[in-house]
Amino acid sequence: QFPLGRRLPCDIYWHGVSFHDNNIFSGQVNKFPGMMETVRKITLSRAMRTMQDLFPLEYNFYPRSWILPEELSLFVDEVRTMKDSNPSWKPTFIVKPDGGCQGDGIYLIKDPSDIRLTGSIQSRPAVVQEYICNPLLMDKLKFDIRLYVLLKSLEPLEIYIAKDGLSRFCTEPYQEPTLKNLHQVFMHLTNYSLNIHSGNFIHSDSVNTGSKRTFSSILCRLSSRGVDVKKVWSDIISLVIKTIIALTPELKVYYQSDIPAGKPGPTCFQILGFDILLTKTLKPMLLEVNANPSMRIEHEQELSPGVFENVPSPVDEEVKVAVIRDTLRLVDPQKKKRKDIHLSFHTYLLIFPTQLQSLHAGLAGMKDKQHKHHSLKLSLKLKFYLKLGSCQSLQQVPEASKELPDAPKSLEAALPSLCLKQVFPKYSKQFGYLRLVDRVAALFIRFLGVKGTTKLGPTGFRTFIRNCKLSNSNFSMAAVDILYIDITRRWNSMGIDKESGMCLQAFVEAFFCLARKKYKSLPQLHEQVSSLIEFCENRLAALHGKRLVWGCG
Ligand code: ADP
Repeated sequence: QFPLGRRLPCDIYWHGVSFHDNNIFSGQVNKFPGMMETVRKITLSRAMRTMQDLFPLEYNFYPRSWILPEELSLFVDEVRTMKDSNPSWKPTFIVKPDGGCQGDGIYLIKDPSDIRLTGSIQSRPAVVQEYICNPLLMDKLKFDIRLYVLLKSLEPLEIYIAKDGLSRFCTEPYQEPTLKNLHQVFMHLTNYSLNIHSGNFIHSDSVNTGSKRTFSSILCRLSSRGVDVKKVWSDIISLVIKTIIALTPELKVYYQSDIPAGKPGPTCFQILGFDILLTKTLKPMLLEVNANPSMRIEHEQELSPGVFENVPSPVDEEVKVAVIRDTLRLVDPQKKKRKDIHLSFHTYLLIFPTQLQSLHAGLAGMKDKQHKHHSLKLSLKLKFYLKLGSCQSLQQVPEASKELPDAPKSLEAALPSLCLKQVFPKYSKQFGYLRLVDRVAALFIRFLGVKGTTKLGPTGFRTFIRNCKLSNSNFSMAAVDILYIDITRRWNSMGIDKESGMCLQAFVEAFFCLARKKYKSLPQLHEQVSSLIEFCENRLAALHGKRLVWGCG
């Protein structure tokens, strides 16, 4: 909404798909630059692998994955070796095209030789992943969990998780994968968009039954069976925090490139959809992260053949309205600038009278059937707004009123308690030690030089080595150049993007390589990396100190 005209800045910008505006200089945007790219299947798998290399036990909630086509032979070799060492292992794999969604192009295989590399979907880069064969079942059906997570800030890191989520059910009873049932999508894939087409799909008015339910209803059932649901929740929270810790280094690189420090720009926040599977042993496993989760609170119903109507979906409403409402409460610009209360509140509420007027005007000239349909839409929209808690009844929609400065307090009091719970920094003590790659990214960003870029040039890499004093008689500057060229060429040949130079993941690889070399005597990779980070940070701090002294002199 632009209540005061397009030229005046807004408090909150709500983008549909991704961060794309580069002429916003203030306020808050509901998307982070680069989030879409960062959570794509391949990028997510790479980020998870980096963390698995450093902390294998902490990151065992993400299935082992390989990137196609470049890691096909690695995949074939590793599977062969694992089968040789354990002949009773009869794995299944799931192949997922990069950038795909709603189950598009996904298929299961029993053997690496079954990978299809030709055909329009198959020629797309993809991830092949170990298939989780032992999901927890409910009513004999496989289901997954969609949880909503608010990344409120990147620096400092602030994460909130919604207390309730959705459970999306398959529509055919689950059986362990065999060659005969591998292709049965209604048995193996939990996507709503696929299962809705099954004759067995159940739309329910209750949030506890049907093919889409609240996650809390599942927890209730588990609790009645004696399951320690608090433990399940804390494992899920830990999965979410660890996943975001894996994503932040890349996000920070995009952020500094789109919104350079020191220049006016907006701050960002984003609602993410986490797809999680519980195994039979109640271990949560991450399937994927969605940068643009659906916020629909209605679903299509076929009234008669070919005639569809949108009808309310109580379960979606129950979960999603609370997520949007609380996101707005948490990023509330008024909290930040109480002094500007009048102006901000104006922005909030001016939406309603215009919405109502135009919707009512639209309804006036409609025929009966049309009217019914649109009334339903209108009532859904209004219900959504009302549930957001900004006004309690239609009559109470205020005009731009003089009394507004007092309103926020009473509104806040009238709202239900927050469904979004802060988990970071709340639990930062337990997870802080995992943020090593973040510190590597900080070094990377420091040497990027030109604002607006996401890749490090050869001079930047040399300066990093020199300033941190990493070159010596065993590691000459010529060897530094070779390391840069080797790693950069390999990453760029994977065709991730066209800009030349060293991307963050390539820098991380080079950094790990330097750490292994310099700290051979330490047994674990994370110890080697952490020692090198400290070494570099100390060198740079000393250099900075010297420069300050020179400056004063
Ligand atoms: P999409 O973005 O196309 O929905 P997902 O990664 O979410 O792709 O996978 C689609 C569905 O496939 C999931 O909802 C889940 O039911 C199933 N699935 C995905 N990965 C695995 C896995 N590793 N093990 C078991 N089931 C999986």
